[in-house]
Amino acid sequence: MSIQTINPSTNKTEKSFEEMTEKAVDAAVAQAAKAFDHWKKTSYAERATLLHKVASLMREKKSALAKIITMEMGKLIAQAEGEITLSADIIDYYATNGAKFLADKSLNPEHGQAFIRYSPIGVLLGVEPWNFPFYQVARFAAPNIMIGNTVLVKHASIVPQCGILLEDLFRDAGAPHGLYTNLLMSGKRASTLVSDERIKGVSLTGSEAAGASIAAAAGKYLKKSVLELGGSDAFIILEDADIDQAVEWAVVGRMNNNGECCVAAKRFIAVEPIADEFLRKFKDKLSKLVVGDPMDPATQLGPLSSEEAAVQLEDQVSRSVKGGAKVLLGGKRVDRAGAFMQPTILTDLKPGIAAYHEELFGPVASFYRVKDEQAAIVLANDSPFGLGGSVFTKDIERGKRVADQIDTGMVFINHPTWTQADLPFGGTKRSGYGRELSELGIDEFVNKKLIRVSELTDPF
Ligand code: NAP
Repeated sequence: MSIQTINPSTNKTEKSFEEMTEKAVDAAVAQAAKAFDHWKKTSYAERATLLHKVASLMREKKSALAKIITMEMGKLIAQAEGEITLSADIIDYYATNGAKFLADKSLNPEHGQAFIRYSPIGVLLGVEPWNFPFYQVARFAAPNIMIGNTVLVKHASIVPQCGILLEDLFRDAGAPHGLYTNLLMSGKRASTLVSDERIKGVSLTGSEAAGASIAAAAGKYLKKSVLELGGSDAFIILEDADIDQAVEWAVVGRMNNNGECCVAAKRFIAVEPIADEFLRKFKDKLSKLVVGDPMDPATQLGPLSSEEAAVQLEDQVSRSVKGGAKVLLGGKRVDRAGAFMQPTILTDLKPGIAAYHEELFGPVASFYRVKDEQAAIVLANDSPFGLGGSVFTKDIERGKRVADQIDTGMVFINHPTWTQADLPFGGTKRSGYGRELSELGIDEFVNKKLIRVSELTDPF
């Protein structure tokens, strides 16, 4: 089967690639295992030097890399450049701090000399999504290469050139053959590959279906797994919020990355006293967004990542409307070539309606009006997902109290859910398990080995 770059702004096929054969994948796994035997013996300083070099090449090539991202998955060009900078920051962060995070940890001195030593576990498989094609890979690859593991990356099939370019960056930075390998193949083959005894762990970022498939294989073959799955973040606006600021952030929170973020604000929950004002201002801003070519710096909303994604989102909207939802704004495809969807607001959502339960991956906001803070918390938690969320209030202590009651992996006060190298990222419930980024992100695929030194004594 061939894997293709299809530009979602035009729906035209730009380039085709042949999938790797089974034999080629087998050789790649063997090379990754061989590279591990060498890489696990290198010093942290050596690993850090390589990672800094990768980050610096990324920054050097930012403009060219960003253009490929935009061409393959439709992200606005300025955001694609921002993604390259963020990815380089993450790689530098682990290069700079990895040795400190992985230093021996002393235990209770009553045991004499006892400590935890952090050791690599081997070859890892990373299955990655298209929506942040460089950032997602940086989150997985950088900490693991710093630990001393080697990585195989199965990137999303709609961003084959991003996958190849990432491998090129590592090779050009001087990575030994097999340290970082791009596997050009379909998703289903990734689940099968988990059974390979040379692979010691697997991390997937993507949909629930793909996550369940990988987790089932990891369970069957007793391998460690990390899952970063979908989300339907609540964005709560309390009556004491700065409404104008909340509206500005609501637009960013929903429309960043053309609405295709796992941690996008997807469910806007406003308490009664300010619900009308928020909704009027939010609708006004969304209706003025400039939709168009993501390469044009004046564009504010580009296409979805593929025609398939646009068809799926339109279907979710139409099923929601059949179930009783109202369309306050948009609701249709944009009348032009490409995978474009209008900025949309759905209201009157109730349990049983598609948009109430499903993740809407695109520029469609769900709006809810509730009586008070407590009702907002109950609604926010009435979701199968548990990724992020946000609360807008001028009373920070109140914001923290609300945050404490929201059942997700991340809650932001007066800001949509966001990401940075030194902030942990991950979810609860059907949003997955494990953490990436920060010190926690280097802690997943590592053997925390206890070493204890005992006095030489007679056992009897
Ligand atoms: P997807 O279809 O699950 O694809 C993600 C990756 O999984 C791709 O590489 C895909 O390969 C692979 N895959 C598909 N089916 C598989 C299977 N049965 N076994 C193993 N691998 C399989 O997800 P997507 O549409 O690209 O990404 C959107 C989803 O990712 C959303 O739900 C979003 O919220 C979530 N996401 C979560 C996070 C987070 O950190 N929590 C971050 C970003 C995105 P192919 O492309 O070859 O099918």
